[in-house]
Amino acid sequence: VGQNYAAHAREMGGDPSRAPPFFFTKPGDALVTDGTDPAYPTATANLHHEVELVCAVGEDGAIAGWAVGCDLTRRDLQAAAKEKGRPWDAAKGFDQSAPCGALTLGALPDPAAVIEIRINGERRQTGRLSDMIWSPEEVLVEARRLWAVQPGDLIFTGTPEGVGPVVAGDRVEATIEGLQPLAFTLSPPVDVSDGRRG
Ligand code: MN
Repeated sequence: VGQNYAAHAREMGGDPSRAPPFFFTKPGDALVTDGTDPAYPTATANLHHEVELVCAVGEDGAIAGWAVGCDLTRRDLQAAAKEKGRPWDAAKGFDQSAPCGALTLGALPDPAAVIEIRINGERRQTGRLSDMIWSPEEVLVEARRLWAVQPGDLIFTGTPEGVGPVVAGDRVEATIEGLQPLAFTLSPPVDVSDGRRG
């Protein structure tokens, strides 16, 4: 979900009025589960962190669990795509662009929990889940207007203000009170020009 916190919408040049949520997608191989360090991606000089609450869709179609995620973004490619009105796939949906922590099943422990990210120990983003313009349940309703949302689908629900760059070697620690933390170190770039990740 794009621009679901008002202050982040403003920092990206958007309008935080309550327009319907908008979506972009990441392929399944964007997902990086906790414990694995993603590689700094090719073709960018401005990779950004976006800490997000992730909701997981269960067998009954409702939200079954929650996690801390990081929507890694090639901000330079996104800016170029925005300028030309082109798709965001290369900016958002690249390999290993969606690190995600372990799921906590059941109800969200605290709907007003603090969401934060630290880079090398320095706090860069902080907010509260209650700052979201659209709640996770409202986001899911809107997504169902557009797709047949399937069990196992993961929805990243947007990021608070304070997005910024990360480089290879940076330690990323993302937390939401009541959920399992997400931590990883960005590893050096990998040459994928032969179609493989080594
Ligand atoms: Mn995001």
